[in-house]
Amino acid sequence: MHRINDYRDIIGDERVSQLYQKAKSLYGKHILHLNSTYQGGGVAEMLMALVPLFNDIGIEAGWRILHGNPDFFVVTKKIHNALQGENITLTEAEKTLYIQTNEAFATYTHLDHDCVIIHDPQPMPLINFFHKRQPWVWRCHIDLSNPNRNTWEFLEQFVLRYDEAIVSNEKYATQMPIHHNIIFPAIDPMSSKNNDMSDAVVTKELNKYEIPRDKPIVCQISRFDKWKDPIGVIEVFKMIKKKVDCRLVLCGSMASDDPEGLEIYDTVRKNAKALIDSGDVILTTSESNTLVNALQRASAVIIQKSLREGFGLTVSEALWKGTPVLASNVGGIPLQIQDGVNGYLLDPTDFKGYADKAIELLENPKRAKEMGERGIEHVRQHFLITRVLSNYLDLLNNIFYPHSLNFS
Ligand code: UDP
Repeated sequence: MHRINDYRDIIGDERVSQLYQKAKSLYGKHILHLNSTYQGGGVAEMLMALVPLFNDIGIEAGWRILHGNPDFFVVTKKIHNALQGENITLTEAEKTLYIQTNEAFATYTHLDHDCVIIHDPQPMPLINFFHKRQPWVWRCHIDLSNPNRNTWEFLEQFVLRYDEAIVSNEKYATQMPIHHNIIFPAIDPMSSKNNDMSDAVVTKELNKYEIPRDKPIVCQISRFDKWKDPIGVIEVFKMIKKKVDCRLVLCGSMASDDPEGLEIYDTVRKNAKALIDSGDVILTTSESNTLVNALQRASAVIIQKSLREGFGLTVSEALWKGTPVLASNVGGIPLQIQDGVNGYLLDPTDFKGYADKAIELLENPKRAKEMGERGIEHVRQHFLITRVLSNYLDLLNNIFYPHSLNFS
């Protein structure tokens, strides 16, 4: 487990000292984070890094995971899709299953913490089933800019009971009926996904998964999810391949709270069968931080062709490796990509634009390298997990000491 001190070389003494200062008034506070999966996706990724740092700095932080059966996760994925704008109407039976699963979980867990932080919609109704003795915060990681109205109205009954909300982008707060805070997500530079890796280890790691480096690699790392548009990436790849000989890797592990993953994976596999058979496209579903790290370093270009994206941690992860990123101008992606500086922002429907920019970078490795290197500093300044910790410390100070002056 990493400690705050381990980050000194990356963020500098001054920022480390600020973290310790902000934590002083919070020593001994007992905080709970609760979400619905321990692996797969950005939420688990961040909690894995954040919770130990809370503990190291003197705040007792725990992480619990809501249990649910597969039908529950089908409903919560529908809610997720509806919040991202899909036209979905939940049936009464689905609403009941959603609420009852939360009620059942509440009967065998106790919450006597000083503050409860609930991540995303899956555990949101829990707030109805406890005597509320502490502030509750709803941390929403989803792109809420254009939610399906019916679903949002159904969820608002729960949101209203919370004391504070956190969203990943100001654009997502327009619907929020309670006080909101903005916390941009961030990556952990010390984790095995993001720490240094020599080129020899990169090759060794890719060999384990039978990913050759004989041709330039174009890669998207994302759950198999329609919002990540894996089929669109394959279409773009076909256009690139006409000009530059390269290989596409789609790397997508399965999240336990995402029941659509296998179905989308199968669709992609069928769609790209000939390219997979010829070795031009490689699909992998392995869950491995070191594989992600190696792929982000080995790739000539990383693509993130999302149609919607709450934030898109994969973008900062790739930039941190000095690899240029072509990504859609949606959700939190434009916060991370400075168009033409450390990558390119594209319209997700502009397949030709994606292909042209990829070809440009594949044909100009020097330019690609320069762009990639500019990404590292941008991530260091804005998207490292220590900044998220700092944002949480500010929020907790404001919650517990609302009338004191905040010097942060
Ligand atoms: N991820 C992974 N293995 C994979 C695909 C994704 O470890 O095969 C990780 C990825 O590195 C990132 C997270 O899952 O840390 C995805 O977060 P992001 O914000 O990009 O998207 P989300 O899945 O939360 O929509």
